[in-house]
Amino acid sequence: MSTTTQSFRPGLEQIAAYRAGKPAPVGPSGRSIKLSSNENPYPPLPAVVAHLAEVLPHAISRYPSIAAEELTAALAQRFDVATENLALGAGSVEVAAQLIHAMTAPGDEVMFAWRSFEAYPILVRVAGAVPVEVALDADSRHDLQAMADAVTDRTRLIFVCNPNNPTGTVVSEAELEAFMARVPSNVLVVVDEAYVHFDRNSDSPSGIDFFRRYSNVAVLHTFSKAYGLAGLRVGYAIAPVPVAEALRKVSVPFAVSRLAQDAAVASLAAEGELQLRIDEMVTERDRLTAGLRATGLPVVPSQANFVWLPLGEASAAMGAAFEAQGISVRTFAGEGVRVSIGDPEENDAVVAAVIAAANRV
Ligand code: PMP
Repeated sequence: MSTTTQSFRPGLEQIAAYRAGKPAPVGPSGRSIKLSSNENPYPPLPAVVAHLAEVLPHAISRYPSIAAEELTAALAQRFDVATENLALGAGSVEVAAQLIHAMTAPGDEVMFAWRSFEAYPILVRVAGAVPVEVALDADSRHDLQAMADAVTDRTRLIFVCNPNNPTGTVVSEAELEAFMARVPSNVLVVVDEAYVHFDRNSDSPSGIDFFRRYSNVAVLHTFSKAYGLAGLRVGYAIAPVPVAEALRKVSVPFAVSRLAQDAAVASLAAEGELQLRIDEMVTERDRLTAGLRATGLPVVPSQANFVWLPLGEASAAMGAAFEAQGISVRTFAGEGVRVSIGDPEENDAVVAAVIAAANRV
């Protein structure tokens, strides 16, 4: 233990650091299966790996381009937006932090549903702003009416995580429309679409459509989930021009590495192959949901690359049962357990672990 004589920012001691999913100890099968961070179970596409091998010798000794011209141009073309609408970060979590830093002063409020992405309240507190958490409804969905009711004159930013992490639920287009009609135009609504590629719900809103129609909507996307580039750290916002400009001001210079930029560009060019993988993961999600339901567990219908088991007081025991089988999941004691979708063998192991746990009691 070391003592310190330095003084820290007041209030920092009350902020807990972000807790990332950890691999489980190796289980009885001799394997450790990590299903705790909603990662892609597959390696990057061969075309992406080949491209990275080619650029590697040139990508390390020099700083990357801060403007990331190639990636920005590719994204602008993909979404038919101006390059000025784009802001990048080292993962969309960094872009979320930029949004909070750019839009709030100490004491301003940032609203989001709860439970949702665990980084939101941490980033908001670190910025000196005030998190306003609005409970999900009984179906683990956003309660957009309650969120609109909770807007105050201190509200600056509202995150709508769609599909929601950790519940996998989505809002409908009509619900988001009704919500936007109630949110004052000086409040920025950020639709966090980290998991949008896995959404097969026909009445889900497209964040980009809302961005086109409302001057106070931004969309957050990431290359970490469907694209499988979590280890390289690249995400972006599509935002009104003044917002994107502000994000670039508060961003950390050079945070998005050259390799991350190049991998993202190569991934965008390999969209067809990626789509096949995404389809496979959606099929596996539906198979895992059915398999878990067949064991008698409650599973919330998911539009993401994970499933949510709303087990309440039984959550900690179920989380421990998975760990004992060498499977790491994300347990929220008293609420539920989130299990990321793995490859078919890993998903079979999840169902087998539940059956093994049930046989022991
Ligand atoms: N948004 C949501 C809803 C997430 O679940 C995550 C990652 N767990 C992120 C953003 C951040 O992802 P990344 O920083 O890897 O882009």
